[in-house]
Amino acid sequence: MKQNYQLMLDDTIEQLAEDGRVPTLLLHSCCAPCSSYCLEYLSDYFEITVFYYNPNIYPDEEYFHRVEEQKNFIERFPAKHPISFIQGDFEKERFFQSVKGLENEPERGARCKVCFELRLGESAKMAADRGFDYFTTTLSISPMKDAQLLNEIGTQLEEEYGIKYLHSDFKKKNGYKRSCEISQEYNMYRQDYCGCVFSYNETMARRNQQKG
Ligand code: SF4
Repeated sequence: MKQNYQLMLDDTIEQLAEDGRVPTLLLHSCCAPCSSYCLEYLSDYFEITVFYYNPNIYPDEEYFHRVEEQKNFIERFPAKHPISFIQGDFEKERFFQSVKGLENEPERGARCKVCFELRLGESAKMAADRGFDYFTTTLSISPMKDAQLLNEIGTQLEEEYGIKYLHSDFKKKNGYKRSCEISQEYNMYRQDYCGCVFSYNETMARRNQQKG
């Protein structure tokens, strides 16, 4: 059944405010622009650690560029509660093994589900190992990403690792629009493809076609 994940987040935040609690949150981030609105929004209510675990990113220069942009933004952003950063392992082989046989899937297809499971799974494990109160991901901010699917994966991992998933759909409340505004304000690098070599090739092919 379709859920309103923004409403669920509103309820959680309201409850935390009533209890006067500021819990810890491990926020998986795919890139600085997507994290910008999420951090602006959530850092009023949570003590956040950004977890950069994206072994899908291609090529290597792009991966390291995104890491630097992420760290830069955290350093410059004036958050109410402190924001920390953890860089995950760049396990490229693990990504390629996980999506084996799904290379020709289009973006939003079966390969993306496996990619979400990999990144959220590692985030749940990290959050459980380090004793966080919650974990979640910035991924739902993108109009290209299925929030229903992301929240379903998060809920399964919540049960598997015994750690609360912060249900959310960050594209609501104009979240995506706001992330574009913040990215401009901070003069951030904003990539034009999702991240993996397959999405990179898809974007290049589209571009070449448009050039005619
Ligand atoms: S298109 Fe994006 S979400 Fe899908 S597999 Fe590639 S990097 Fe992962």
